[in-house]
Amino acid sequence: MVTLDGPGAALDVREQPMPKVQRDNLLVRVELSGVCATDLHICQGDIPGFRYPVTPGHEVVGTVAEVGADFTTDVTGRPVRSGDRVVVMPATPDGTCPSCRRARPVPDCDNFDVIGFSVPEERQAGGGWGQYVLCNSSRARVFVTEATPEAAVLAEPASTPVEGMRRAGVAFGDSVLVQGTGTIGLLAVAAARALGAARIVAIGGPERRLRIAEELGADTTISIEGTPDSEERVRLALAASPGGLGFDAVAECVGAPAVLPEGLSCLRKGGSYLELGHFSDVGEARINPYRHLLAKDARLVAVSGYTPESFHRALLMVERLGPAAESLVTHRLPMSRAQEAVNALAPGRQYLLDGTEVGKIVIDPRL
Ligand SMILES: [Zn+2]
Repeated sequence: MVTLDGPGAALDVREQPMPKVQRDNLLVRVELSGVCATDLHICQGDIPGFRYPVTPGHEVVGTVAEVGADFTTDVTGRPVRSGDRVVVMPATPDGTCPSCRRARPVPDCDNFDVIGFSVPEERQAGGGWGQYVLCNSSRARVFVTEATPEAAVLAEPASTPVEGMRRAGVAFGDSVLVQGTGTIGLLAVAAARALGAARIVAIGGPERRLRIAEELGADTTISIEGTPDSEERVRLALAASPGGLGFDAVAECVGAPAVLPEGLSCLRKGGSYLELGHFSDVGEARINPYRHLLAKDARLVAVSGYTPESFHRALLMVERLGPAAESLVTHRLPMSRAQEAVNALAPGRQYLLDGTEVGKIVIDPRL
């Protein structure tokens, strides 16, 4: 298992003790576990309150190695059997705290047990960058899938845009602008397409990702490299919006505070701004509350987690996309190269690894 002792430390591969499986547990032999920008921020210490040491990996697909007698079905009621391929929702609520008992429509628990975010004293196995992940309560949310591991590993990152668009009420015929063409941005394009958006515009780069955005459903792409000026990008985006009036929804999938005013400027009156990109604290944005929000009657939707319902729909989306989803996965690496994987996501690295442009990197602990 890959272990990080603290911010700035090197990722280290250590022997993983075989987890003990209790009656209400499910043990997953990891096939693939994604590397995401959040993992870079965990390594850098950008997430307030984050505790170490940690074995990262919150995007997990694998096969059931052992299933406890009380862990009978997945979230949808399908029986879970040894050998089944499953995707795992990383966060398990305790089910008893005041937030859980309020049962609001947003995912909320005071004591989430999060695979890939938790310390060894509190859970036997860590995150997906190891051979085994333990779902340590029957409240854990797993889903049996027939998708390939390369498609299924995208269910977790797809859940954020799916949750955001469902909460914002993005509907058939809407116009959607996606800021950013990393994994979340590309999956936001796919989610907008799946919801029946009539006009989808994506701002991002480099060129290969813009082509993938088009394959996944973007009608128009705007290259950051080709159009480095923010005001010019706003002009181009508005020109591509229906009637030049702006977009019903704008999804922030960059994770850089500076893009907020640009995205808000592209919002149609009454539109929704979806904040999907900032899972860590990387600074502040300057916005004009009148011009960007009030004058537009704007609605702000921020997503820090998702419901099992959104996760399931995200899984159905990537299952249906199949090879188109798999094309997002560019690198499959052994645990010993986890540090390189994380480093490749750092800004200024040209997003190159082994001479190939980085899309979604996955760790395969069997390599
Ligand atoms: Zn709770």
